[in-house]
Amino acid sequence: MDVNSAVWTVPASAREFGFFVDGQWAEAGDRPMSERKSPAHGVAVTRTVRCTRADIDHAVGVARTAFEDRRWSGLPGGERASVLLKAAAGIRARVEELALLESLESGKPIGQARGEIEGGANIFEYAAGAARALHGDAFNNLGDKMLGLVTREPIGVVGLITPWNFPFFILSERVPFILAAGCTIVSKPSEVTSATTLLLAEILSDAGLPDGVFNVVTGSGSEIGQALAEHADVDMISFTGSTAVGRSVLLASAGNFKKVGLELGGKNPQVVFADANLDEAADGVVFGICFNAGQCCVGGSRLVVEKSIAAEFEALVAAKMARVRIGDPLDPNTQMGAIVTAAQNATILGYIEAGKREGARLVCGGEAYPSDTGQFVQPTVFADVTREMSIASEEIFGPVLTISTFETFDEAMAIANDTIYGLAASIWTSNLDKATDAFRRIRAGRVWVNTTINNGPELPLGGFKQSGTGREAGIYGVEEYTEVKATHIALGRREPWVS
Ligand code: NAD
Repeated sequence: MDVNSAVWTVPASAREFGFFVDGQWAEAGDRPMSERKSPAHGVAVTRTVRCTRADIDHAVGVARTAFEDRRWSGLPGGERASVLLKAAAGIRARVEELALLESLESGKPIGQARGEIEGGANIFEYAAGAARALHGDAFNNLGDKMLGLVTREPIGVVGLITPWNFPFFILSERVPFILAAGCTIVSKPSEVTSATTLLLAEILSDAGLPDGVFNVVTGSGSEIGQALAEHADVDMISFTGSTAVGRSVLLASAGNFKKVGLELGGKNPQVVFADANLDEAADGVVFGICFNAGQCCVGGSRLVVEKSIAAEFEALVAAKMARVRIGDPLDPNTQMGAIVTAAQNATILGYIEAGKREGARLVCGGEAYPSDTGQFVQPTVFADVTREMSIASEEIFGPVLTISTFETFDEAMAIANDTIYGLAASIWTSNLDKATDAFRRIRAGRVWVNTTINNGPELPLGGFKQSGTGREAGIYGVEEYTEVKATHIALGRREPWVS
């Protein structure tokens, strides 16, 4: 289907979901339901179950059994790959259904949602290969009477906690790698965007994934997310979300010393040198802060620009900002949709007011974007921003860009690294030596040179500093979900210890 010519509409009634455990849908029974309203249209679009701690216990038990009996980890990598490839085909076959739900629940533009679903299928295809490529090592240099083996084994039951900003794409950056490693999963999506995670469970089941290997339990983070992190029978937690909640997940995980992978927040610099192609750099900077309405962990929210071109560049950015198409996420021409929740909207507008109050110069935006049905924010730029201002240091998670200037390369690097975060950074320059020096000095897990927010399953994701621990995706991503075992095999007769 051509996404641009299709007519997308809000369904007449909210779609109701159960939760998914042991290869089948579980009904709500007497559990309460959560209703999700589209943040752009103000009408109910989905209803999901508010599961209980007992549901987490049951799902973890199911995932434990599925792990221990080796119904998945015992298969050859090639057979696991085959299931992942069938799942990718299953995702592609349901792309419209998934994209519509994703757009309605999150407020993101439909064309973008569709791209993210297809991108998810692409990651499953990549990870299928990783299931076959994963291997260990051998030490044949220990003498004729010894052989050393290093094998990788699946870590076990993984609790997977995911956020609302890229519900299906972030899920897809983790699930196929965890499955490729041979683990089993209890997944807890964000309570406001659970639909596509639930449908993935059905797609995986249809693709031949054995029952109990991928389970989804829906509900609130503070109740069942916390219960999953605390659970003594979970071997690893993969958490993606805010730095504050990541900290509590780490503490909750300490009970059984489970491994914790954390993908957290960012305050990512866009460093623009005077020798850059300024028009392209301005386009990248506008995309970097407006994509997903700024609700993007790797969004470039701090523009750090060389003083000699700062005025010219600021004008270029403001002119492009004015042309960003904001509006109904179901209009295929929309580039920037709604803010996910009223609370997030209030947070963003609160930061905008703080920026005005703290003395930053408002270049453009600075208000809510008018709507009768939902919550939207104008792309906003503040200049003359100093490090003491809250907008300079705190993650806003909205379409708010701050501008600060530098005169020397060292100053640019100091400002870029002046943050508790280290998730991502972009560098814009036509000088290869400068670009190389900069990417080496910036303390962040992902760096883009003359581009921004590129991804693909081959390269790993993760943060330095308070942006997280561990890596997802790529071969690194599969290895994260394994334990390493060293085995010595003695050959020939044993030299007696007891005489
Ligand atoms: P959040 O931290 O509020 O929630 C993330 C998930 O954690 C949700 O599923 C939520 O239900 C759950 N949760 C909440 N409280 C919990 C608790 N006490 N114990 C266990 N789980 C709990 O984050 P969000 O608002 O959904 O997403 C936005 C944040 O996520 C931003 O800070 C953003 O930077 C970050 N993020 C990071 C990445 C990355 O790859 N580094 C990607 C996307 C989003």
